Amino acid sequence: MAPSGSRGIKWGCWRVLYWIPVLFIALIVAWSYYAYVLQLCIESIEDTGEKVVYLLVYHVIFIMFVWAYWQTIFTKPMNPLKEFHLSYSDKELLEREDRGESQQEILRRIAKDLPIYTRTNSRAIRFCDRCQLLKPDRCHHCSVCDKCILKMDHHCPWVNNCVGFANYKFFMLFLTYSLLYCLFITATDLKYFIKFWLNGLPDTQAKFHILFLFFSASMFSVSLASLFIYHCWLVCKNRSTLEAVRAPVFRHGTDKNGFSLGFSKNFRQVFGDEVKYWPIPVFSSSGDGCSFPACLVNLDPEQPSSPTDSNPASKAAADGRQFPSKPLRESQSRLLTSTPSWSESDSAADKDKKGASNPGMTIENEA
Ligand SMILES: [Zn+2]
Ligand SMILES: [Zn+2]
Repeated sequence: MAPSGSRGIKWGCWRVLYWIPVLFIALIVAWSYYAYVLQLCIESIEDTGEKVVYLLVYHVIFIMFVWAYWQTIFTKPMNPLKEFHLSYSDKELLEREDRGESQQEILRRIAKDLPIYTRTNSRAIRFCDRCQLLKPDRCHHCSVCDKCILKMDHHCPWVNNCVGFANYKFFMLFLTYSLLYCLFITATDLKYFIKFWLNGLPDTQAKFHILFLFFSASMFSVSLASLFIYHCWLVCKNRSTLEAVRAPVFRHGTDKNGFSLGFSKNFRQVFGDEVKYWPIPVFSSSGDGCSFPACLVNLDPEQPSSPTDSNPASKAAADGRQFPSKPLRESQSRLLTSTPSWSESDSAADKDKKGASNPGMTIENEA
């Protein structure tokens, strides 16, 4: 929602300033390319075999890193589907009511037909005034983008974009490849860094590039490693950064593990079912971003209870566990029922047999 007039120009100027961190990273990457390829590999390394191996491996990591970074920056964050927006008549109805409770009554009526399980801290329906919509689970309004973002993780200034459902996999790959990039440079530059201090390098400008390359790559390695480990933990737990700060509130209360389905399913929710797509920055995340299988959602007293035998909710209820009574969407059901493509081993099959008929609904694998 871009403002108009002079406010629009001001807003446009701010948007340009937001690109400064991205430009900063791009300049550092461009310099590191020049320093590593030209100054280290071509100018300083004498052994041809070593030179070729370093250049080959470097370029593979470099391409993957730049590709993942590009995708994280330029993938538009996904916004809630049309069905979550208020209709014209509902908007009018809501405006006419000035009491919070009556407005909640209207929102509750609309939410009944939507796969929404989370609430505000005061157990109210999560509604975005700015976008005039009912927030899907895990969706948050970003004040920088001025939009509701599906499964919002955080707004990242280094990519000038919101990290959310649409690009979280790209963000994870960006962290992975940038860390690999820095570690590779640090490891291969170490020998020449030591030579610098022993005065073993020829007295050219290359030796200063080698020196700064080592310092910057090792420093970035440390900061990237901590961020990478933290996000790996979030993926394993199926939490976004926002949910790690404030646990989602379900109808039965706050539950920080509410969306966790166990490590393998949590991983697949971000990286998808097909192993071949995991290391590549193309979209392969599971689901539609609007609804997520929740493992411990209590049956909703407000919802009509009409589970059938084919409904996973009824199977769960029979097993003594409680699951959403709303019909599961296709994307949710697929996440709950599909078998991991890499775990078709005997042990996995045995585990499935021992557990419920539906492996996704076993909650014991959540630590
Ligand atoms: Zn919004
Ligand atoms: Zn944002």
